[in-house]
Order: sequence, then structure tokens, then C-alpha cells
Amino acid sequence: MAIATISPVTGEVLKSFDELTPEELEDKLARAAAAAASYRLTRVEQRASWLNQAADNLEKDADSVSTLITTEMGKTYRAAQEEVAKCVRGLRFYAANGPEFLQNLPGDANTVGAKETYVTYQPIGVVLAVMPWNLPLWQAMRFAAPALTAGNVGVLKHASNVPQTALYMEQLFREAGFPDDVFQTLLISSRRVEQVLRDDRIAAATLTGSEPAGRSMATITGDVIKRMVLELGGSDPFIVMPSTDLERATDVAVKARTLNNGQSCINGKRFFVHADIYDAFLDKFVAKMGALVVGDPMDAATDVGPLATESGRADVEAYVEDAVGKGAKALVGGKRLDRPGWFYPPTVLTGITPEMNMYHEEVFGPVAQVFSVGSLAEALEQANAHPYGLGSNLWSQDPAERELFIRDVQSGMAFINGNTTSYPEIPFGGVKRSGYGRELSDLGMREFMNAKTVWIGADVGA
Ligand code: NAP
Repeated sequence: MAIATISPVTGEVLKSFDELTPEELEDKLARAAAAAASYRLTRVEQRASWLNQAADNLEKDADSVSTLITTEMGKTYRAAQEEVAKCVRGLRFYAANGPEFLQNLPGDANTVGAKETYVTYQPIGVVLAVMPWNLPLWQAMRFAAPALTAGNVGVLKHASNVPQTALYMEQLFREAGFPDDVFQTLLISSRRVEQVLRDDRIAAATLTGSEPAGRSMATITGDVIKRMVLELGGSDPFIVMPSTDLERATDVAVKARTLNNGQSCINGKRFFVHADIYDAFLDKFVAKMGALVVGDPMDAATDVGPLATESGRADVEAYVEDAVGKGAKALVGGKRLDRPGWFYPPTVLTGITPEMNMYHEEVFGPVAQVFSVGSLAEALEQANAHPYGLGSNLWSQDPAERELFIRDVQSGMAFINGNTTSYPEIPFGGVKRSGYGRELSDLGMREFMNAKTVWIGADVGA
């Protein structure tokens, strides 16, 4: 895939970049390793002040960075502004909490025959992040902020269609005062990731992306025995029970399925609605999805912009054609829009069956599948039949239903009466084929730290 900014609104190539030559890549890896040797010795309070400076600078750049994000991947300008604000919050969260997260964890010295024992958290070196385009700043920031707080050094291989956002991140950290080469962007294609992963100067890796990319990288990190966090796809269930307020549940259902133009791993994608309220839910949901304004993402009136890439739109079309060809019904949408750019309308499908590809996979566009279920247990059985287990969502006022959902839903995150989203303050991640490991909070920071056990005996002769 060419490394270029291509407008999803027009298909025009706006700016192209050359890949790093082998010599340039070698130079960057050597610099990263050299930076890691000294950066690990900096004080966490100093790192926190650089993070705060980065947050201040990003806040000042918010308008131009939001425009850049919208230009590169087509999300609405409003959504891009929210993404930038979340990055500012993430930077400040790690600046404020990093020193506490890095405190030693004392152990019970007596029980292990020591004078003192504790766990100390130490950085592990250079971490490679391979990131997707859908939240181009936030996905990379939620790796970078905790990694730099921990004293690690980052190298970012970003998606090929968001090179300018990737380069902006390098500039942001440099201008905030972080030492040279502590965070570098590598403009390389995905076929060169293996070489970087196998390089001894790389200590660990993180990928947010598709299942095939995850399988490939996990195979390599398995071979070279390096730690890895995998954040892969999701086809999150959104379960609606009769006790809920339908107006609110359908408002959020629309947001859940169309946020980021329908291209978020934690979009609610499969809607399981209790039979008693199925017709009422569907009436409201279809009307609200059909009323969304699809158009230029820079226009304040637009709710849903184009999909980010031409091939992404082709994938969505193929899923819908496969389902409709096998008997599914499109109650709204279901056909690409007749206009330039990679637009696809908000779509609601019923009659989805296991013979259809979308039943088992992930549709990365604004296409909702709605199912009628007789009980929460039935909803959970169908929800859990999917190979992914990232987020999940329940709408219910009933405490017993909530407990059952929390206990039995197979997902890394369970949200009740509110949309699934990520916050710097709480962990993010999945189970099953959605990946392993956690990002964000203190857990995300410790994924890439050496939890070193220290045991100190009594002084000799004492
Ligand atoms: P993708 O093709 O896997 O791309 C993601 C990143 O991986 C890009 O930087 C890409 O580089 C690189 N890549 C692709 N194939 C690779 C390989 N074989 N080895 C190493 N790197 C490789 O994913 P996408 O389809 O663009 O993005 C959407 C996917 O990401 C969806 O499945 C979505 O659910 C998932 N996602 C997950 C989360 C989460 O937190 N769980 C969040 C957001 C998105 P190039 O661009 O150069 O190909």
C-alpha cells in the first residue's frame, strides 16, 4: 500500500511519501536503541512535565490536527475534535498518575526470609507500535503516553493512509521537550514489520489492527519470544431489554453503530433486542439511522462521512451483498451512494443467519444487524457465538439481568446503559480472537515493564 494521504471524499492523492530506505531504517533503529539507554534513567517527574507540555501543545494545535485527521481518514471534524481532546486527556492522565503507577510494590519480607522485598517496575526498552487509521491520533497516543511515562522508547509504524498524522506525533513529542529519538515514526510498509520485529533492539510490540495482521505479528513475536499486546477486531453485541428507555437506547444505538463512520472496533455491531420491544425498537432505530446526514466530513451538519479507503468500502459492500443475496433485508441503506468518494449509507439489516459472512466476521462500516431474542440468556448465547470478544453493551434496569450479563458475556469490557468507549482511566482490551493484553490505566502501562522482584537479605555480620 502506498504511503500517502488520499482524500476519502474525492479519491484524490493529496500527498505521497517515500518509504524509508534500508539505511534510513537502520539509522532510526540505532537511534532508538541509543535513546533507550539514557531515557530509562530520566526521572518520572521529568517525563510527566514533558507529557504535560505535549498536552498543552496539542491543545493549541487542536484545530489544525483535527482538520488533518478528517482529511486523511474522513471522520467528521466534530469527531476528530473529540479524538484530539481525548489525547490531551490521556497525556495529562499519565502525567498526573505516572509517578504513583511506578511506585514499588512492597512484599512481606518475613515470609520469604528477607530483610526487605518488593517489586520494582522498570522500562523494557524500545517498543514497536503498529497502529490503524481509524482513530489515528488516539490509537497511537494510547500506546505512546503510557510507554513514554514508563521510560520506554517508541517507534511507530502507522497505517499507510495516515502518514501526516504519524509524523505530527513525532514532532509533538520532540517539541514538548522529550529527548531526541525517544519517539520516532517509521514510514515503512507492513511487509517490513517482520524485519523490525525480529531486530534485537526491539524489546516488545503492540498492534491494533485486523486479525490477519495480528496472526502474522503474534507468530513472529512467538518465534523470537517477545512480549506483545494485541488489540484486534470486534463485533460487539448491543443487547436491549424491555425495562429500558427505548428513546435513549435507540439514540445511543445509532451513535454506537455510526461513530467514526462505523469504523470503530468497539462500535455496537450486532443488536439483540427482546421480542417484546423488537418492533418498537426497530421502528425508532430505522427512522433515526435513515435521518442521518451523510456528506462532507468538514461540514458541521454531517453525521456520517465517507469510509476511509476504497477497499474498505468494497469490503462493506461485499458483506451486505452476500447477506442480502442469502435472504437478509435492508430496512434502510444497503447500497453505495452514487457520488464521488467512498461513501456508504447507514444501513439496518434483519434476517441475518449463520450462512452469511457478516454473522461470523466484522463489518467495518455503518451497517447494523438486528436480531429478535426471547430472553437475555438467548441474547448472550448468540452474542458469545462470535469469535470476537472485545466490548459489549447491555440496556436494562434490572439488577439480576445486569449481573447475568457481567458474569456471562464473553468480552473484555462490559458496558451497561451507556455506550462502549475508551477512557485513559480504565483498562481497554479483549478476549478470544479480539486479542490479548490491556491498554490504558495502570495495567496498560505495566504491559511493557519489567516487574522486577527484589529480595534483600540481612546485612552480612549484622
Ligand atoms: P490492518 O490492515 O491490520 O492495519 C493495521 C495496521 O497493521 C496498519 O499499520 C497496517 O499497515 C499494519 N499491517 C497490516 N498487515 C500487516 C501485517 N501482516 N504485518 C504487520 N503489520 C500489518 O487493519 P485495518 O483493516 O486497516 O484496520 C481496522 C482493523 O483494526 C479492524 O479489524 C478493527 O476492529 C481493528 N481495530 C481494533 C481496535 C482495538 O483496540 N481492538 C481499535 C481499532 C481498530 P498498512 O496500513 O501499511 O497496511
